[in-house]
Parts: sequence; structure tokens; C-alpha cells
Amino acid sequence: MSKQYDVVVIGSGPAGYHAAIRCGQLGFRTACIEKWLNQNGKTAYGGTCLNVGCIPSKALLDTSQKYIEAQHEFSTHGIKVSKPVIDVPAMIGRKDKVVKQLTQGVAGLFRANKVDDISGSGRLIAAGLVQVTAHDGSQYEIEAKQIILAAGSVPASIPTAAVDQQTIVDSTGALDFTEVPKNLGVIGAGVIGLELGSVWARLGAKVTVLEALEDFLPVADRQIAAEAQKILGKQGLDIRLGTLVTNTATGKGKNSDVSVEFTSRNGDKQEKNQATFDKLIVAIGRKPYTEDLLDPAVGVELDERGFIQVNEQCMTSVANVYACGDVVRGPMLAHKGMEEGIMVAERLAGKKSQVNYDLVPSVIYTHPEIAWVGKNEEELTTAGVDFNIGVFPFVASGRALAANDSSGMVKLIADAKTDRVLGCHIIGPSAADLLQQVVIAMEFSASAEDLGLTMFSHPTLSEAVHEAALAANGHAIHIGNRKRRA
Ligand code: FAD
Ligand code: NAD
Repeated sequence: MSKQYDVVVIGSGPAGYHAAIRCGQLGFRTACIEKWLNQNGKTAYGGTCLNVGCIPSKALLDTSQKYIEAQHEFSTHGIKVSKPVIDVPAMIGRKDKVVKQLTQGVAGLFRANKVDDISGSGRLIAAGLVQVTAHDGSQYEIEAKQIILAAGSVPASIPTAAVDQQTIVDSTGALDFTEVPKNLGVIGAGVIGLELGSVWARLGAKVTVLEALEDFLPVADRQIAAEAQKILGKQGLDIRLGTLVTNTATGKGKNSDVSVEFTSRNGDKQEKNQATFDKLIVAIGRKPYTEDLLDPAVGVELDERGFIQVNEQCMTSVANVYACGDVVRGPMLAHKGMEEGIMVAERLAGKKSQVNYDLVPSVIYTHPEIAWVGKNEEELTTAGVDFNIGVFPFVASGRALAANDSSGMVKLIADAKTDRVLGCHIIGPSAADLLQQVVIAMEFSASAEDLGLTMFSHPTLSEAVHEAALAANGHAIHIGNRKRRA
């Protein structure tokens, strides 16, 4: 007889492992199926995020930022060191250690919460029935009252730059270079392009970013995007907007270069160009991963872009089948998937949990970081909302100056009639962590005045948020300024 569970989760990424652990906590007999194997042939829990995404990229960002500080910042603080040298294999080794620790941690959390981990590939073959294909090819079935699909996403590709993981790599390959490329090309000036481009630029690569769109970071507030483009340009990222890659050609062998042909705009004309790179990263977005996940006869519907169709509660078109994380609509972010996974588990237990899709924070972990939540100036203007803006530059923050890290600003937007905070957009030191206090404030429908009346420790970077809130109502103490838009 096949094994029976209350809940079976397919995929152990942030969405899946949060769903599984919460189901375990709520007393459901739960299993989580994961097919990913690491280099040692062990099941790799934690999905893209822990294995080849959020965590390893941040490990490299942190190392490369320390290298930059040792190279350029220490002397400003009066610290003399001999010229730092980057040991790339040691950097990658440290990254791998962090990944190992965290992925093994997920296995430990499964044990602690009585979640059965099943190594193999899961396929939904009927409502309530999952077929597992083990790594030796053997197959068996497991039954579940409820099934949660959390299969995640994989990098998108373009035919003009086929990934070989040697010379032309995707985000996964770009986490494992064995040496710093001299000339690095990046296709796509999105989150991955900017983060991984920054890593290798800091370590000495000459980085050229080829972006198809004419606008830089079109999803961000325009003022923040303009500031980011200026700062990243100064750091050496050569960002070419309105650029389309038309062809690539790699030579033979592991260390061959790649020749890239592209068109870019010069005034009104599209010009043909060519560049040679020793590595090329393709970072043009990700796509939902549903390969071998679903028997079409079950009737789980996909949308026109291949995402599993769900409602706000992550219910699919088939009763008792849920889906969450990157495999469904919405931003492809770990924290969005985590919250969805928890919501699904709690709803299965009869709770009324929800995800507030209006308050999903976005962060780009460059230096300085870029972070935002809620509506931006352009969106509110288009919507005809009457609002106030408070801007506070980090150059007026005592703590930022003390740290010699004072580029950027906090921009807080509040409704002109109700003073309710509608959005916050930050570029600056620790922007991601600073933003979180505004996310909490917005979750509680705070006004800019509420934030202004709150006491902030001195001297902290957080005071920039305080001052931006005061500035929105026209009375920042330092040099914040206010704009009214009707
Ligand atoms: P995934 O993490 O993709 O996990 C899905 C899991 O399901 C995988 O382990 C897969 O092997 C497994 N699976 C798939 N099909 C099957 C099957 N049939 N049977 C068994 N198992 C299956 N997001 C952030 O919020 N912050 C960041 O800083 C950040 N940085 C990133 C950096 C990079 C380089 C990349 C690539 C992504 C980054 N992301 C970041 C995005 C983040 O990694 C994803 O949004 C997140 O991992 C999605 O979680 P998920 O659980 O939906 O899917
Ligand atoms: P992205 O959507 O952020 O950026 C892709 C960029 O590539 C866009 O600017 C797009 O216009 C451009 N592009 C697309 N096709 C192109 C082409 N043919 N030529 C040139 N440019 C092209 O995607 P990404 O950077 O690959 O990241 C994938 C996902 O992973 C994102 O959705 C993101 O949410 C997630 N992620 C998040 C973080 C974070 O939260 N810090 C970090 C990394 C990745």
C-alpha cells in the first residue's frame, strides 16, 4: 500500500520548506519531496535561494565589499594595510560552506518538525496522488489529502547566447568562477546582473552590462533609479541601455573568449557593435519550473507564461492542490514564497491567514543597497493621488558620515489628505534593513506623523527614515526636503 500523508509538498525551496515546516507545526502528517542533489550526491534542500540564489550571492557580495573596503576605505579610517589580494577559491569555498550549513539546517528543521524528507522527483498524477521517481529510477506513489506545489523557477534563456556554464554562464555559473574575469559581459541590468556584476567588478573585472530596455530599473522609483545608475556607473559598471544581443560566438576550450554582437542606440539610429569578453553572464529573468511536475489530465491550469494559476490564497484550479512561490504569479522573491507557504499551511488548518501583496519589499543588494516598498512617485502620479514626499540624504546623517558611507537617500511618500505612508524608497547603507521598519509601519497603516513621533536611537542610520517622515510634513530637523504632488 502507498504511504499516506495529510500534506505532501513538492519542492523544498523557501516556499516549500516554510509550508512543510508550518504544516508539521500544525500537526499535519507531512512530507516534502526534493529532487536536487548537491555535488556530493546528497539531497540539497532549500531550493534556488539557499543553493544558488539569495545566500551564495550575498556571501560573494559580502566578501567583495570587504575587499573594496580593505582596498579603498581602510586608509580613510587611518588603517594601513598592504595591498589586499583576493583568493577566489577561498572566497568560493567560504560561500560553499555557508550554503552547506544552511541547506543541512533545513534537513534538521524537517526532523525537528516531524516532516518526512523524500529524495526524488515528485509528479502530481491525480488529485491526492503523487508519483515519486527516486534517483535510482525506481518509482512509487504516495497519497496525500492536500498537495502543495512549490517547484520554483529556473533561469530564462535566449537563443543568441546559449549557456554552456564555461564561457557563457547563467547566475549559477557566475557564482563559481575560479578566477576574476578580466572582461565580464552581463546580459540584463536587472537584480542578478547588478548584484553579480558588482561582485566581479569589485574584485577587478571590467564589467559591461547589456540591457535591452531604454530605462534603467524601470520598476524602481525614477529618482532612486537615477541615483543608482550614477553610483553604479562610478563603481565601474558600464551599463549600456537599449542594447540587444544579436549573436555570440565562443572559441573552443574551457578558457575561450566569447565574441558578442549587439545593436545599441546612437541618437536616433541603432548601431551594430561587437565586444569580446572572457565570461558572459546571461541574467534576463527566470521562468516557472513545471517540467515533469504535473500530469495534464489532473487539470491544474497554467497561465500563458507557464505559471501555475492560483487565486490570492494560492489555490489552483484543482481542489486540495495549492501552489506557491516562484512557480506562481507575483515577484520571484524568497520572502514572498515563504509567506505564501505559511499562508497555505495555516489555511489548511482553518486559519484565515493572508499575504499582503501590496507590501512585498524589493531589495537589490548592491552597495549602496536599493530597497523599496509600496507605491513610487510615478505610480501615484499616474493614479492621480495627492501626496507629500519627504527626502532625507544620508550625507546629513551623522552615523552615515561616521561610517564614511553616506551616498543615497531615504524617500518617504505619504498621502496628502490622510498622511498615511504610501511608499518608501531607499538607496543607501543598509537600505534593506532600514526599509523593514517602514514595512512594519505600513502594515499597521501608520502615518508619516506616527513615524515622526516615534523615538529613534541616536546615532543610527534609522534616523534617516525618521527625518524623511518629518520632511514629508515639512519639518525635518536636518536638511531633509519636502515636495507636494497633486
Ligand atoms: P525554489 O527556491 O526554486 O525551489 C524549488 C525547489 O523545488 C527546488 O529545490 C527544486 O529542485 C524543487 N523541485 C522542482 N520540481 C520538483 C519536482 N518535480 N520534484 C521534487 N522537487 C522539485 N530572492 C530574494 O528574496 N532575495 C534575494 O536576495 C535573492 N537573491 C537571488 C539571487 C540569485 C542569483 C537568484 C537566482 C535568485 C535570487 N532570489 C532572491 C530569488 C529566490 O531565490 C527565489 O525567489 C526563491 O528561491 C523561490 O523560492 P521557491 O521555493 O518558490 O522556489
Ligand atoms: P530581472 O527581471 O530582475 O532582470 C532581467 C533584466 O534583463 C531586465 O532588466 C530585462 O529588461 C533584461 N532583459 C531581458 N531580456 C533581455 C535581452 N534579451 N537582452 C538584454 N536584456 C534583457 O531578472 P534577473 O536579474 O535575471 O533575476 C531573476 C529573478 O530573481 C528576479 O525576478 C528577481 O526577483 C529574483 N532575484 C532577486 C534578488 C533580490 O531580491 N535581491 C536577487 C537576484 C534575483
